[in-house]
Amino acid sequence: MFDYHIHTTYSPDGQMSMETACLRAIELGLAEIAITDHIDMDWPNTAIPPFDVKMLDRYFEDLGKIKEKYKGSINIKKGIEIGLQPHILEECTDIIQSYPFDFVIASVHLVNRVDPCLGEYYTGRTKEECYYLYYQEILSLIRSYDEFDVLGHLDYIKRYSPFPPGEKDHLLCNSLVDDIIRVLVSKGKGLEINTSGCQHASKSPMPHPDIIRRYIQLGGKIITLGSDAHRPEYLAFEFDNTLERVKNLGINQLTSFTHRVPSFVPIP
Ligand SMILES: [Zn+2]
Ligand SMILES: [Zn+2]
Repeated sequence: MFDYHIHTTYSPDGQMSMETACLRAIELGLAEIAITDHIDMDWPNTAIPPFDVKMLDRYFEDLGKIKEKYKGSINIKKGIEIGLQPHILEECTDIIQSYPFDFVIASVHLVNRVDPCLGEYYTGRTKEECYYLYYQEILSLIRSYDEFDVLGHLDYIKRYSPFPPGEKDHLLCNSLVDDIIRVLVSKGKGLEINTSGCQHASKSPMPHPDIIRRYIQLGGKIITLGSDAHRPEYLAFEFDNTLERVKNLGINQLTSFTHRVPSFVPIP
């Protein structure tokens, strides 16, 4: 199948070259991958240098070369994972419109400039408050921003939350999650299923299958599957199990993107 969320050494935390990622994808028998390195502009932690926007010309050059080199073996899409924050949305739009991306994931990695992967985000807040603030930020950002194809790892906060995972965590802030889904559907945007959640305490993909079901119920049609791999061993991580769960939700196709236009491919 397809892996539509892969990081290479263009991402500050990526640990594989584009070539290594492609060779691993071919070895796994994937038909198509999207390389989706991170762009997080105005990232607060200067100790981790972000993907410099000035590198995008070289990024596209390298993507073009690798696409050509492996074109008989695998289809490679030129993607990006763009990190949204309220004060940079115009710059995000400019970047996406200035380059010939096949596929754009919009992700929210910061709430008021704090990454929920850090303990300080949780200090002095209840679990509900932590989830509420995170979802509220997503809702406000995707209401104001249009240059993306899918929303990345919707319940990403569960990957790092220090609170013990609960069976009903996916029901926290239910109505806010519904509002997010309604905005996605009304804008014709997709939802990513990100299997990196399976490596963490929740042991389930992001978002939770019930949230994916809700997206379908409310009329959503565009679903992509991505591992969020930063290392070769995590490409297509837990795809077999996740595809079974997805099919049990009544979903029988995944989405592929070319020049930001979706097409649908049946799940085998
Ligand atoms: Zn992300
Ligand atoms: Zn990612």
